Amino acid sequence: MDFTSLLLDWYNDNQRDLPWKINKDPYPVWVSEVILQQTRVEQGTHYYNRFLEAFPTILHLAQAQEDEVLKLWQGLGYYSRARNMHKTAKRLMEEYNGTFPADVSLLRSLHGIGDYTAAAVASFAFGLPVVALDGNGYRILARYFGIDLDIGTARAKKVFSELARSLLSGHDSASFNQALMDFGSLVCTPRPACSLCPMTKTCLAFQKGMTEQLPVKQEKNVSRIRHFNYLDIELGKTTFLRQRTGKDIWNGLYEFPLIETPQKFGFQELEQTERFAKLLGSSGCTMIDTLEVSPHKLTHQIIYPVFFKIRLSVPAPVLEKEYIQIDRQDIHRYAISRLTEKYLNFFHNFAGL
Ligand code: SF4
Repeated sequence: MDFTSLLLDWYNDNQRDLPWKINKDPYPVWVSEVILQQTRVEQGTHYYNRFLEAFPTILHLAQAQEDEVLKLWQGLGYYSRARNMHKTAKRLMEEYNGTFPADVSLLRSLHGIGDYTAAAVASFAFGLPVVALDGNGYRILARYFGIDLDIGTARAKKVFSELARSLLSGHDSASFNQALMDFGSLVCTPRPACSLCPMTKTCLAFQKGMTEQLPVKQEKNVSRIRHFNYLDIELGKTTFLRQRTGKDIWNGLYEFPLIETPQKFGFQELEQTERFAKLLGSSGCTMIDTLEVSPHKLTHQIIYPVFFKIRLSVPAPVLEKEYIQIDRQDIHRYAISRLTEKYLNFFHNFAGL
């Protein structure tokens, strides 16, 4: 039997039962694909259900405030996904009458929709004969056909796409793409379960003992190191937050006053900084606790965070001007980064604020 027949036979007997598979409407297909881009299925399913409950249609999503969408996304990370979905929903309302175009290049032109997501929506929702190759697909093909090209390169993308297109030819694209995903998630995983695999006789990597060497993926360059010092300020029952803006990470999310330093600073060093003097200079602050949270890894940077819990006796004018002053009990109403959430859960347990 050839590769595609083996794959589809396996899929018929072993496919995963996932909520978005029963729905051919492009909106839930798109929601599931975006959520699953950087998220495990177990966690993604929970967010998928919550998302569709809050925004059951493109119109609901388009009409929501960005803050609401970010709040719902809280904990998933990669918040640009949520912002892009919001923009795309608005554009679909404005230009496509609240539906998705059944065309790969038009789908590709929408915010946050890359080659993979465009192909997935085109194939699962519209049945177009296109291949949606994600990391699972690359891994399976690299191993089965013994291809040792670096999968991060443009050349590899071309070679793998052409190969996948030839393998799909004459078959149902939705089943083929879904089969690659399920097979890559259950059998040909990063540590493959070859003993469960129906392809061992013809898989080149298995035959040559190279399953651990394939696929080839060069490590990307080194991450940027950043030191974040957060001031969790207590003024009576209130604290201060600010919404992040600009092109840096976590755009649109709320956080405590932040002082970024070139290296790790203790509280005394922090007090000497210009920013600290500007923020809290003459307000008579007392440092009451410190929490150093474990390094927070993002795609191209590692954040070393320290949270300083500070008590103020009188309001500081700069704080009142640049930040919003809220009741500490209300923090959970704001969309915050996973890092700040980690701190709040660990240190205060939300309710104990
Ligand atoms: S034999 Fe192993 S490496 Fe080859 S396709 Fe099957 S699970 Fe993947």
